[in-house]
Amino acid sequence: LLAVTTGCALLLSACGRSAEGGSESKDEKDPTVGIAMPTKSSERWIADGRNMTASLEKAGFSTILSYGEDDPDQQVAQIENMITQGVDALVVAAINGEALSNVLRQAADARIPVISYDRLILGSPHVDYYASFDNEKVGELQAAYIVEKLGLRTGAKKGPFNIELFAGSNDDNNTRYFFDGAMKVLKPYLDSGRLVVRSGQTRLNQVTTLRWDGGTAQKRMDDLLTSAYATARVDAVLSPYDGISIGILSALRSDDYGSAAKPLPIVTGQDAEVASVKSIIAGRQTQTVYKDTRALARVAAGMVSAVLAGERPETNDDTTYHNGEKVVPALLLDPVSVDKSNYRKVLVDSGYIDAEALR
Ligand code: BGC
Repeated sequence: LLAVTTGCALLLSACGRSAEGGSESKDEKDPTVGIAMPTKSSERWIADGRNMTASLEKAGFSTILSYGEDDPDQQVAQIENMITQGVDALVVAAINGEALSNVLRQAADARIPVISYDRLILGSPHVDYYASFDNEKVGELQAAYIVEKLGLRTGAKKGPFNIELFAGSNDDNNTRYFFDGAMKVLKPYLDSGRLVVRSGQTRLNQVTTLRWDGGTAQKRMDDLLTSAYATARVDAVLSPYDGISIGILSALRSDDYGSAAKPLPIVTGQDAEVASVKSIIAGRQTQTVYKDTRALARVAAGMVSAVLAGERPETNDDTTYHNGEKVVPALLLDPVSVDKSNYRKVLVDSGYIDAEALR
């Protein structure tokens, strides 16, 4: 499943534009792949860039890696630049899923295939394949964890418990999938009143966090505590991403949560970033969702190799991810729920996080 084909270096005659008698001198060189990543402000994307580069180079490609610093215009300019430099393929983790239509038209004109990485690129027919995780399952895992830990699933506890909801950036297509996955699990409990959102903010457009920013989430949690929890306690917070969880926990701790009288609520997360895993070990953040970005990079590199060799890459979901223009065939990997009980086995034993980093 995850094996990377031997790559274009060995298959030059079948590769990309050089196979079509392209004018440039690329035939002499390794084919080059442009990798556009969204931001260096989060550990996971730094690892993605590193893993993508390593997987592609192992498969015989040269690479150009850029980070868009969470600025959609900057990312467009970087991709334009890669096209000008004559890359043979593009791997793109979009900042704003809807902002790439024009630049991808340029890519298509230059016959450069595009792999959408982790986040689906929207509104463009020029997206060849999608490599990601089962994004709906990410949300399901977060919500199921909350329901389980509160004792609601088994009926051991009846509640009602207070919960607040946070979602990711509204310009990231994944946000909707994470949130919908979580709400599918939470809805019966919200409907029966065993879970209560005291702020009343339950719709996606009320709970998003622009650019996944932890400070923005902290501010919103501060506001929620002031407006809805003066006389009540929050028992759980659905958080879609570790950086947001850290912001939420700062707000909670400033409000005396974490003291003996006022235990911290269950706080979920995503990405198994070191700061959050440390927080989990210290008993603050409760859970995160691990997505092995090494495996994702191998999948995306395999897609590049296959497409440039004129083959169809392996996919396992050819129906779910409609981007407004087409269904983009996808290979989705499995996310894994992690908490204090299994972080060592899942994260350390697998080599994803060095035990030293958690000391
Ligand atoms: C990714 C998540 C990540 C988030 C914030 C999403 O598109 O799928 O893994 O937590 O972006 O960077």
